[in-house]
Amino acid sequence: MAIFKVKQCPVCDGKEFSSFLTCTDYFVSGEEFQIKRCKSCGFKITENIEDEENIGPYYQSENYISHSNTTKGFVNAIYHQVRKFMLGRKRLLVENVAALRKGHILDVGAGTGFFLNEMNEYGWQVTGIEKSEDARRFAKLEFNLDILPAYELSKLKGKSYDVISLWHVLEHIHQLNVNLDIFFSLLKDDGKLVIAVPNHDSYDAKHYKEFWAAYDVPRHIWHFAPSQMKLLGEKHNFKLINLHTMPFDSFYVSMLSEKYKKSALAFFKGIFYGKISWLVSLVNKAKCSSVIYVFEKN
Ligand SMILES: [Zn+2]
Repeated sequence: MAIFKVKQCPVCDGKEFSSFLTCTDYFVSGEEFQIKRCKSCGFKITENIEDEENIGPYYQSENYISHSNTTKGFVNAIYHQVRKFMLGRKRLLVENVAALRKGHILDVGAGTGFFLNEMNEYGWQVTGIEKSEDARRFAKLEFNLDILPAYELSKLKGKSYDVISLWHVLEHIHQLNVNLDIFFSLLKDDGKLVIAVPNHDSYDAKHYKEFWAAYDVPRHIWHFAPSQMKLLGEKHNFKLINLHTMPFDSFYVSMLSEKYKKSALAFFKGIFYGKISWLVSLVNKAKCSSVIYVFEKN
């Protein structure tokens, strides 16, 4: 047991914080965690979580669908259908932002390798980094992909990648600033950094408050909104060039949040509020449940 202490805001270096919310870990432990808010930039941080070496047990759940392939349960079944569709959408987005049909992509937090397999099948050279040994083993067995453990990241050759992607990963990384510097050094001068993270400024986040499933404490250490992502990029010499929405996240996160609230008719209420969130994001991308940020080097 060792607590990961954050005394300074990793976005703006501010040192003053206020209390924001108390959230429950609905997924694994049932424990409560506080989220604090940076008084200068509004960035939100989960407090008193375990450090990198000790947080592992909070990821051990049969429900942890991003690392498994079960189709049990209705929400899971939908998730898997959506994933199939989203893989194609992610590939097209990467190809569009990179203006390449084939290139070299580094996916950080590659999980079980579904996305890299998709890229590989379309002719991309792929490199993946993943902390979980089980996930790496799955990627090898299922897709014959050799995904590297996390400590290999800093050993990769500099200026080698056309795209570095992190799909719902940055919010889990303890050493946020260190990793962003590494991504800068690994990216080619004209490369693109693609980061998808939940958005605490979204309609569904504001509606569900402490029940919002994408707070996902203590696994989500950092809670981003577009203004803070822009600042964080600038701190690391990146320029934010575009935002994209992830419409399915509005529905998925709303359904899961209703489940956490133990609502009657959780599925239908989730669809209802997910639809509002999605409609709001059509008008303003910065209000989507999850946002994909595209950065280039300054
Ligand atoms: Zn701050």
